[in-house]
Amino acid sequence: MREVEVIIYKDKKKAIYIREKFCKGCGICIHFCPRNVLEFQKKVNENGHHPPYPKYLDKCTGCNICTLLCPDYAIWINKNLSLNKY
Ligand code: SF4
Ligand code: SF4
Repeated sequence: MREVEVIIYKDKKKAIYIREKFCKGCGICIHFCPRNVLEFQKKVNENGHHPPYPKYLDKCTGCNICTLLCPDYAIWINKNLSLNKY
């Protein structure tokens, strides 16, 4: 089975993972993010859709709403990076 690339955006505390190939550019994650963290990228994925990226990663609280609402399992969060050292 071919692996699908996952793009990782992270700071010291948290990481946002985006499987761009799965994204259909519906914008649900962008629209419902309570902190307006996400924006569409200008580039398109191989299916012609604009995936999101965290324009304001520092504002992300790790609430997980984007993860729960994405219909295509294309975005998810780890808000406890500091706990994963071992
Ligand atoms: S985890 Fe919450 S705050 Fe962070 S990008 Fe997703 S919806 Fe926005
Ligand atoms: S909700 Fe999922 S499919 Fe829709 S734009 Fe966001 S990452 Fe892409």
